[in-house]
Amino acid sequence: MMTKHIYVHIPFCDSICFYCDFFRSVSNETIKKQWLSQITKEIQAKSFSKISTLYFGGGTPSCLSVEAFEQLATLFAPYLTQDYEWTIEVNPDSVTKEKLQIYKKWGVNRISMGVQTFHDVLLKKIGRKHTSSQVYQAIDLCHEVGIKNVSLDLIYALPGETLADLKADLDAFLNCKVDHISIYSLQIEANSVFGKQHLQPCDSDLEADMYECIEKTLTAAGYTHYEISSYAKNNRFSKHNCSYWDDSDFMGIGCGASGREKGIRYDIDANLQAYCQNGPKLHWVPTNAREQAFEAIMMALRTCFGLDIKAWNKKYQRNFLANYAPVLEKYTNELVYKENRVFCTPHGFEILNSILVDFLDEN
Ligand code: SF4
Repeated sequence: MMTKHIYVHIPFCDSICFYCDFFRSVSNETIKKQWLSQITKEIQAKSFSKISTLYFGGGTPSCLSVEAFEQLATLFAPYLTQDYEWTIEVNPDSVTKEKLQIYKKWGVNRISMGVQTFHDVLLKKIGRKHTSSQVYQAIDLCHEVGIKNVSLDLIYALPGETLADLKADLDAFLNCKVDHISIYSLQIEANSVFGKQHLQPCDSDLEADMYECIEKTLTAAGYTHYEISSYAKNNRFSKHNCSYWDDSDFMGIGCGASGREKGIRYDIDANLQAYCQNGPKLHWVPTNAREQAFEAIMMALRTCFGLDIKAWNKKYQRNFLANYAPVLEKYTNELVYKENRVFCTPHGFEILNSILVDFLDEN
Protein backbone atom coordinates (compact mmCIF):
# COMPACT_ATOMS: atom_id res chain seq x y z
CA MET A 1 0.00 0.00 0.00
CA MET A 2 1.22 3.48 -0.83
CA THR A 3 1.37 4.99 2.63
CA LYS A 4 2.16 8.64 3.06
CA HIS A 5 0.79 9.57 6.46
CA ILE A 6 0.89 7.46 9.61
CA TYR A 7 -0.55 8.08 13.05
CA VAL A 8 0.71 5.89 15.91
CA HIS A 9 -1.25 5.93 19.16
CA ILE A 10 0.67 5.55 22.43
CA PRO A 11 -2.07 5.01 25.01
CA PHE A 12 -0.17 5.67 28.24
CA CYS A 13 0.00 8.65 30.57
CA ASP A 14 1.76 9.11 33.88
CA SER A 15 -1.37 10.67 35.35
CA ILE A 16 -4.82 11.71 34.18
CA CYS A 17 -5.69 15.36 33.46
CA PHE A 18 -9.10 16.47 34.70
CA TYR A 19 -10.39 17.64 31.30
CA CYS A 20 -9.26 14.61 29.30
CA ASP A 21 -11.41 11.90 27.80
CA PHE A 22 -8.88 10.61 25.24
CA PHE A 23 -8.11 6.95 25.21
CA ARG A 24 -5.23 6.58 27.63
CA SER A 25 -4.39 4.71 30.80
CA VAL A 26 -1.96 4.82 33.66
CA SER A 27 -0.44 1.38 33.26
CA ASN A 28 2.17 -0.80 34.83
CA GLU A 29 5.32 -2.03 33.12
CA THR A 30 3.88 -5.49 32.40
CA ILE A 31 1.04 -4.08 30.30
CA LYS A 32 3.45 -1.71 28.57
CA LYS A 33 5.68 -4.66 27.62
CA GLN A 34 2.75 -6.64 26.22
CA TRP A 35 1.55 -3.57 24.33
CA LEU A 36 5.02 -3.01 22.86
CA SER A 37 5.25 -6.55 21.63
CA GLN A 38 1.75 -6.35 20.09
CA ILE A 39 2.25 -2.99 18.36
CA THR A 40 5.60 -4.21 17.01
CA LYS A 41 3.78 -7.15 15.39
CA GLU A 42 1.10 -4.80 14.07
CA ILE A 43 3.68 -2.54 12.42
CA GLN A 44 5.68 -5.47 11.02
CA ALA A 45 2.53 -6.79 9.36
CA LYS A 46 2.11 -3.55 7.37
CA SER A 47 3.81 -2.78 4.13
CA PHE A 48 5.05 0.77 3.75
CA SER A 49 6.58 2.35 0.74
CA LYS A 50 7.20 5.97 1.64
CA ILE A 51 6.24 7.83 4.79
CA SER A 52 5.98 11.59 4.41
CA THR A 53 4.45 12.32 7.79
CA LEU A 54 4.66 10.24 10.94
CA TYR A 55 2.90 11.29 14.12
CA PHE A 56 3.34 9.68 17.54
CA GLY A 57 0.36 10.88 19.58
CA GLY A 58 -1.41 9.81 22.68
CA GLY A 59 -1.69 9.52 25.56
CA THR A 60 1.81 10.71 26.25
CA PRO A 61 4.41 9.25 23.88
CA SER A 62 7.22 10.78 25.96
CA CYS A 63 6.35 8.50 28.87
CA LEU A 64 7.65 5.56 26.80
CA SER A 65 11.13 4.42 27.76
CA VAL A 66 14.02 5.16 25.41
CA GLU A 67 14.27 1.44 24.58
CA ALA A 68 10.57 1.20 23.71
CA PHE A 69 10.78 4.30 21.51
CA GLU A 70 13.83 2.93 19.70
CA GLN A 71 12.11 -0.39 19.09
CA LEU A 72 9.32 1.46 17.27
CA ALA A 73 11.61 3.95 15.56
CA THR A 74 13.63 1.20 13.84
CA LEU A 75 10.45 0.00 12.13
CA PHE A 76 9.63 3.35 10.53
CA ALA A 77 12.92 5.17 10.01
CA PRO A 78 13.93 3.35 6.77
CA TYR A 79 10.77 4.50 4.99
CA LEU A 80 10.88 8.24 5.64
CA THR A 81 10.90 10.43 2.54
CA GLN A 82 13.51 13.16 2.12
CA ASP A 83 11.22 15.96 3.25
CA TYR A 84 9.36 13.98 5.92
CA GLU A 85 7.89 15.41 9.08
CA TRP A 86 8.02 13.25 12.22
CA THR A 87 6.23 14.63 15.24
CA ILE A 88 6.18 13.27 18.75
CA GLU A 89 3.88 14.58 21.47
CA VAL A 90 5.62 15.21 24.78
CA ASN A 91 4.74 16.45 28.23
CA PRO A 92 7.19 18.80 29.94
CA ASP A 93 7.55 16.52 32.95
CA SER A 94 8.31 13.30 31.10
CA VAL A 95 10.71 14.57 28.48
CA THR A 96 14.41 14.52 29.28
CA LYS A 97 17.53 15.57 27.43
CA GLU A 98 18.40 11.91 26.88
CA LYS A 99 15.01 11.18 25.32
CA LEU A 100 15.18 14.23 23.07
CA GLN A 101 18.68 13.25 21.92
CA ILE A 102 17.39 9.79 21.02
CA TYR A 103 14.38 11.26 19.19
CA LYS A 104 16.71 13.52 17.24
CA LYS A 105 19.07 10.63 16.49
CA TRP A 106 16.26 8.63 14.91
CA GLY A 107 15.01 11.58 12.90
CA VAL A 108 12.16 13.14 14.89
CA ASN A 109 12.06 16.71 13.64
CA ARG A 110 8.98 18.17 15.31
CA ILE A 111 7.91 18.27 18.96
CA SER A 112 4.36 18.97 20.05
CA MET A 113 4.33 19.86 23.74
CA GLY A 114 1.29 19.81 26.01
CA VAL A 115 1.60 23.04 28.00
CA GLN A 116 -2.07 24.09 28.46
CA THR A 117 -1.26 27.17 30.57
CA PHE A 118 1.77 28.89 32.09
CA HIS A 119 -0.09 29.61 35.37
CA ASP A 120 0.99 27.12 38.02
CA VAL A 121 -2.27 27.55 39.96
CA LEU A 122 -4.36 26.78 36.87
CA LEU A 123 -2.10 23.83 36.00
CA LYS A 124 -2.89 22.33 39.38
CA LYS A 125 -6.60 23.00 38.97
CA ILE A 126 -6.71 21.00 35.74
CA GLY A 127 -4.67 18.09 37.08
CA ARG A 128 -1.42 18.71 35.22
CA LYS A 129 1.69 17.52 37.02
CA HIS A 130 4.22 19.95 35.58
CA THR A 131 5.05 23.56 36.33
CA SER A 132 5.66 26.47 33.97
CA SER A 133 9.40 26.38 34.71
CA GLN A 134 9.49 22.78 33.45
CA VAL A 135 7.92 24.02 30.21
CA TYR A 136 10.68 26.59 29.68
CA GLN A 137 13.34 23.98 30.46
CA ALA A 138 11.79 21.46 28.06
CA ILE A 139 11.66 24.02 25.22
CA ASP A 140 15.30 24.94 25.86
CA LEU A 141 16.23 21.25 25.73
CA CYS A 142 14.47 20.81 22.36
CA HIS A 143 16.47 23.71 20.95
CA GLU A 144 19.67 22.47 22.60
CA VAL A 145 19.45 19.04 20.96
CA GLY A 146 18.69 20.66 17.61
CA ILE A 147 14.93 20.16 17.23
CA LYS A 148 13.85 23.61 16.15
CA ASN A 149 10.30 22.86 15.03
CA VAL A 150 8.33 23.01 18.28
CA SER A 151 4.62 23.44 18.79
CA LEU A 152 2.87 24.21 22.07
CA ASP A 153 -0.69 23.21 22.97
CA LEU A 154 -2.61 25.67 25.13
CA ILE A 155 -6.13 25.63 26.55
CA TYR A 156 -8.19 28.72 27.40
CA ALA A 157 -11.50 29.28 29.21
CA LEU A 158 -10.11 27.22 32.10
CA PRO A 159 -11.97 27.19 35.42
CA GLY A 160 -11.62 30.64 37.01
CA GLU A 161 -9.37 31.95 34.23
CA THR A 162 -9.66 35.70 33.55
CA LEU A 163 -8.93 37.64 30.38
CA ALA A 164 -5.80 38.98 32.11
CA ASP A 165 -4.67 35.39 32.80
CA LEU A 166 -5.08 34.54 29.13
CA LYS A 167 -3.14 37.64 28.05
CA ALA A 168 -0.31 36.59 30.36
CA ASP A 169 -0.36 33.09 28.82
CA LEU A 170 -0.13 34.54 25.32
CA ASP A 171 2.77 36.79 26.38
CA ALA A 172 4.53 33.80 27.92
CA PHE A 173 3.98 31.85 24.70
CA LEU A 174 5.41 34.67 22.59
CA ASN A 175 8.47 34.79 24.85
CA CYS A 176 9.15 31.11 24.12
CA LYS A 177 9.94 31.98 20.50
CA VAL A 178 8.39 28.88 18.98
CA ASP A 179 6.73 28.88 15.57
CA HIS A 180 3.51 26.95 16.19
CA ILE A 181 0.67 26.93 18.67
CA SER A 182 -2.57 24.99 18.87
CA ILE A 183 -5.02 26.63 21.22
CA TYR A 184 -8.39 25.23 22.22
CA SER A 185 -11.16 26.35 24.54
CA LEU A 186 -11.85 23.96 27.40
CA GLN A 187 -14.50 21.42 26.47
CA ILE A 188 -16.17 19.67 29.36
CA GLU A 189 -16.42 16.09 28.18
CA ALA A 190 -18.90 13.85 30.00
CA ASN A 191 -16.26 11.17 30.49
CA SER A 192 -13.61 13.41 32.02
CA VAL A 193 -13.09 14.22 35.70
CA PHE A 194 -14.56 17.69 35.06
CA GLY A 195 -17.58 16.15 33.34
CA LYS A 196 -18.20 13.88 36.28
CA GLN A 197 -17.90 16.85 38.63
CA HIS A 198 -20.45 18.74 36.48
CA LEU A 199 -18.09 21.66 36.11
CA GLN A 200 -19.86 24.68 34.61
CA PRO A 201 -18.45 25.93 31.30
CA CYS A 202 -16.92 29.39 30.99
CA ASP A 203 -19.29 32.30 30.39
CA SER A 204 -19.86 32.52 26.63
CA ASP A 205 -19.18 36.31 26.43
CA LEU A 206 -15.87 35.85 28.23
CA GLU A 207 -14.99 32.96 25.92
CA ALA A 208 -15.75 35.11 22.86
CA ASP A 209 -13.57 37.94 24.27
CA MET A 210 -10.79 35.41 24.83
CA TYR A 211 -11.06 34.15 21.25
CA GLU A 212 -10.80 37.73 19.97
CA CYS A 213 -7.80 38.40 22.20
CA ILE A 214 -6.01 35.29 20.89
CA GLU A 215 -6.71 36.23 17.29
CA LYS A 216 -5.49 39.82 17.73
CA THR A 217 -2.42 38.98 19.80
CA LEU A 218 -1.12 36.14 17.66
CA THR A 219 -1.77 37.72 14.27
CA ALA A 220 -0.18 40.99 15.47
CA ALA A 221 2.88 38.93 16.45
CA GLY A 222 3.16 37.59 12.89
CA TYR A 223 1.48 34.20 13.25
CA THR A 224 -0.84 32.97 10.50
CA HIS A 225 -4.17 31.63 11.70
CA TYR A 226 -3.98 28.71 9.30
CA GLU A 227 -6.35 26.29 10.99
CA ILE A 228 -9.29 26.85 13.26
CA SER A 229 -7.21 26.11 16.39
CA SER A 230 -3.66 26.58 15.08
CA TYR A 231 -1.33 29.45 14.30
CA ALA A 232 2.11 29.23 12.71
CA LYS A 233 5.07 31.36 11.72
CA ASN A 234 7.69 30.73 9.05
CA ASN A 235 5.35 28.33 7.21
CA ARG A 236 5.73 25.78 9.99
CA PHE A 237 2.23 24.40 9.41
CA SER A 238 1.73 20.88 10.73
CA LYS A 239 2.16 18.78 7.58
CA HIS A 240 0.66 15.75 9.25
CA ASN A 241 -2.48 17.54 10.40
CA CYS A 242 -2.81 19.12 6.95
CA SER A 243 -3.24 15.58 5.61
CA TYR A 244 -6.40 15.24 7.75
CA TRP A 245 -7.74 18.52 6.50
CA ASP A 246 -6.99 18.03 2.81
CA ASP A 247 -9.03 14.84 2.42
CA SER A 248 -6.07 12.42 2.31
CA ASP A 249 -6.00 8.87 3.60
CA PHE A 250 -3.80 8.08 6.60
CA MET A 251 -2.88 4.91 8.40
CA GLY A 252 -3.73 4.54 12.08
CA ILE A 253 -1.63 2.14 14.14
CA GLY A 254 -2.09 0.98 17.73
CA CYS A 255 -4.86 0.44 20.22
CA GLY A 256 -7.13 3.51 20.20
CA ALA A 257 -5.83 4.94 16.89
CA SER A 258 -7.99 6.01 13.94
CA GLY A 259 -7.16 5.88 10.26
CA ARG A 260 -8.68 6.30 6.82
CA GLU A 261 -8.35 4.01 3.83
CA LYS A 262 -9.87 4.80 0.42
CA GLY A 263 -11.93 7.51 2.08
CA ILE A 264 -13.42 5.21 4.73
CA ARG A 265 -12.52 5.87 8.34
CA TYR A 266 -11.74 3.21 10.88
CA ASP A 267 -11.13 3.15 14.60
CA ILE A 268 -8.97 0.57 16.29
CA ASP A 269 -10.71 -0.86 19.33
CA ALA A 270 -9.55 0.91 22.48
CA ASN A 271 -9.57 -2.09 24.80
CA LEU A 272 -5.95 -2.38 25.88
CA GLN A 273 -6.22 -5.86 27.44
CA ALA A 274 -7.94 -7.26 24.34
CA TYR A 275 -5.41 -5.52 22.08
CA CYS A 276 -2.48 -7.02 23.96
CA GLN A 277 -3.99 -10.49 23.75
CA ASN A 278 -5.52 -10.54 20.27
CA GLY A 279 -4.06 -7.65 18.31
CA PRO A 280 -5.87 -4.73 16.64
CA LYS A 281 -9.59 -4.93 16.00
CA LEU A 282 -10.75 -2.47 13.38
CA HIS A 283 -14.19 -0.86 13.41
CA TRP A 284 -14.96 0.61 10.00
CA VAL A 285 -17.20 3.66 9.96
CA PRO A 286 -19.38 3.17 6.89
CA THR A 287 -20.08 6.36 4.94
CA ASN A 288 -21.68 6.92 1.57
CA ALA A 289 -20.29 9.20 -1.14
CA ARG A 290 -22.43 12.16 -0.04
CA GLU A 291 -21.22 11.89 3.53
CA GLN A 292 -17.62 11.69 2.35
CA ALA A 293 -18.13 14.76 0.18
CA PHE A 294 -19.50 16.67 3.17
CA GLU A 295 -16.64 15.50 5.37
CA ALA A 296 -14.17 16.83 2.80
CA ILE A 297 -15.85 20.27 3.00
CA MET A 298 -15.94 20.16 6.79
CA MET A 299 -12.22 19.39 7.06
CA ALA A 300 -11.13 21.83 4.35
CA LEU A 301 -13.01 24.75 5.90
CA ARG A 302 -10.97 24.28 9.08
CA THR A 303 -7.95 25.75 7.29
CA CYS A 304 -7.22 29.11 5.73
CA PHE A 305 -6.40 27.28 2.47
CA GLY A 306 -10.02 26.16 2.24
CA LEU A 307 -11.57 23.84 -0.31
CA ASP A 308 -10.28 23.32 -3.85
CA ILE A 309 -13.63 23.41 -5.63
CA LYS A 310 -12.50 21.90 -8.96
CA ALA A 311 -10.79 18.98 -7.24
CA TRP A 312 -13.86 18.42 -5.03
CA ASN A 313 -16.23 18.51 -8.04
CA LYS A 314 -14.08 16.00 -9.86
CA LYS A 315 -13.59 13.65 -6.93
CA TYR A 316 -17.23 13.61 -5.84
CA GLN A 317 -18.89 14.17 -9.26
CA ARG A 318 -20.84 17.15 -7.97
CA ASN A 319 -21.13 20.87 -8.68
CA PHE A 320 -20.15 22.70 -5.50
CA LEU A 321 -21.24 26.19 -6.55
CA ALA A 322 -24.63 25.05 -7.80
CA ASN A 323 -25.17 22.83 -4.81
CA TYR A 324 -24.22 25.25 -2.06
CA ALA A 325 -25.08 28.68 -3.53
CA PRO A 326 -27.57 29.44 -0.71
CA VAL A 327 -24.88 28.83 1.93
CA LEU A 328 -22.33 31.03 0.15
CA GLU A 329 -24.96 33.79 -0.15
CA LYS A 330 -25.93 33.54 3.50
CA TYR A 331 -22.35 33.80 4.78
CA THR A 332 -20.83 36.54 2.63
CA ASN A 333 -18.85 37.89 5.64
CA GLU A 334 -17.69 34.50 6.78
CA LEU A 335 -16.92 32.58 3.58
CA VAL A 336 -14.70 33.85 0.78
CA TYR A 337 -14.89 32.47 -2.75
CA LYS A 338 -11.75 33.27 -4.70
CA GLU A 339 -9.72 31.63 -7.47
CA ASN A 340 -11.51 28.31 -7.35
CA ARG A 341 -11.33 28.03 -3.58
CA VAL A 342 -13.71 28.72 -0.75
CA PHE A 343 -12.36 29.45 2.72
CA CYS A 344 -13.35 30.99 6.06
CA THR A 345 -12.61 34.51 7.30
CA PRO A 346 -11.51 34.70 10.99
CA HIS A 347 -15.17 35.26 11.92
CA GLY A 348 -16.06 32.25 9.77
CA PHE A 349 -13.70 30.10 11.85
CA GLU A 350 -15.47 31.32 14.98
CA ILE A 351 -18.92 30.21 13.79
CA LEU A 352 -17.82 27.29 11.62
CA ASN A 353 -20.16 24.84 13.34
CA SER A 354 -23.24 26.86 12.38
CA ILE A 355 -21.96 27.23 8.80
CA LEU A 356 -21.48 23.48 8.56
CA VAL A 357 -25.04 22.84 9.70
CA ASP A 358 -26.18 24.85 6.67
CA PHE A 359 -23.87 22.89 4.37
CA LEU A 360 -25.32 19.71 5.78
CA ASP A 361 -28.87 20.92 5.12
CA GLU A 362 -27.99 21.51 1.46
CA ASN A 363 -25.96 18.30 1.11
S1 SF4 B 1 -4.49 15.39 28.29
FE1 SF4 B 1 -2.83 14.20 27.44
S2 SF4 B 1 -1.46 13.87 29.21
FE2 SF4 B 1 -3.43 14.46 30.06
S3 SF4 B 1 -4.49 12.53 30.46
FE3 SF4 B 1 -5.11 13.23 28.42
S4 SF4 B 1 -3.76 12.22 26.98
FE4 SF4 B 1 -2.82 12.07 29.04
